[in-house]
Amino acid sequence: MSANQAAIPPARPVIGEAEIDAAVRVLRSGMVVQGPEVAAFEREFGELVAGRHCVAVNSGTSALQLSLMALGYGPGDEVIVPSFSFAASANAVRLVGATPVFVDIEPGSFCVDPDAVAAAITPRTVAIMPVHLYGHPAAMDRLMPIAEAHGLAVVEDAAQAHAAALNGTPVGAFGAVGCFSFYPTKNMHSLEGGMITTADAELARKLRLLRNQGMEARYQNEIVGANMRMTDVAAAIGRVQLTQLAGWTDKRRANAAYLDERLTGVVTPPVAEGAKHVYHQYTVRFTGDRDAFQAGLKDLGIGNAVYYPTPIHKLKPYLGEDGQPGPWKLPETDRAAEEVVSLPIFPGLTTEELDRIADAVNTVAVRA
Ligand SMILES: *Cc1c(COP(=O)(O)O)cnc(C)c1O
Repeated sequence: MSANQAAIPPARPVIGEAEIDAAVRVLRSGMVVQGPEVAAFEREFGELVAGRHCVAVNSGTSALQLSLMALGYGPGDEVIVPSFSFAASANAVRLVGATPVFVDIEPGSFCVDPDAVAAAITPRTVAIMPVHLYGHPAAMDRLMPIAEAHGLAVVEDAAQAHAAALNGTPVGAFGAVGCFSFYPTKNMHSLEGGMITTADAELARKLRLLRNQGMEARYQNEIVGANMRMTDVAAAIGRVQLTQLAGWTDKRRANAAYLDERLTGVVTPPVAEGAKHVYHQYTVRFTGDRDAFQAGLKDLGIGNAVYYPTPIHKLKPYLGEDGQPGPWKLPETDRAAEEVVSLPIFPGLTTEELDRIADAVNTVAVRA
């Protein structure tokens, strides 16, 4: 790395002047809690998910947890989730007292394997939680018929996949609910925040009650609820980001196409037929010494990261009473956890930076 070349970070969240102005405008108004900005953000986000109802909350994890609460799941219920995801997917299941049942992924998409899902269904199964990992849509065309045949709800974890689609249908518009995150490193953010999408007006009302102490009219509590409200400051920032999302998504996809053509010595991310990948992560597989590969990239100023080095079923809270992982057989999950490396793909990358990433990968991959 020469002196005039700054290191390229793995991600670069945008907090621009427009976001700052929007936040300041709301702060100066004095009305900062859930109000008109949240309502407008919900309306505008609906355009991303085929006009579904949208319910804003304070995080993606809250979106998942509140969805499972609204669907009435709890102790004794099983929810099928991929182990190859961020812990939040399974945490949401455990937070409502239900049991995550871990299944393997398809190696091409890194998303849940529909055949594995079908094989994991028991009389206790209530829902399937596909994760659109890295911004690649899960195989909803094969998952939805399985869910329908068994009367299961589908809770989409779309935290990484704003504006991804399969055969023209956007993620978040397939399942009973879709759950998005607006954490700073996601494809768009609201500092912290989340959104639940649903076609079911009654479920949307229940979600609104549950996020706000079970109230619609003040102090007329109808059910027991939590406080998972989004602030109007966060919503104002999210609204600004939403106006940029289409352009940012195009740039992520163009960056990915650029790297796809140039990288050697690694397996570039495959895209399933009919899938619109939005590249929350640009994740390659490297089958040599991954530690050396990552260190070599870092030496050349190329930020990189492994999402996720430990599959959820091997994380401490998910081990059995004997301290060992349960009886799960998840070979593709284990292999992915050993091979994946995510490279910078954020929209602000310049062509010069993309060339540096490609040169570094092509240099380091042959010797690591
Ligand atoms: C980020 C993320 C979440 C949780 O979102 P938060 O807003 O951080 O709570 C859930 N699932 C996946 C797959 C994520 O990447």
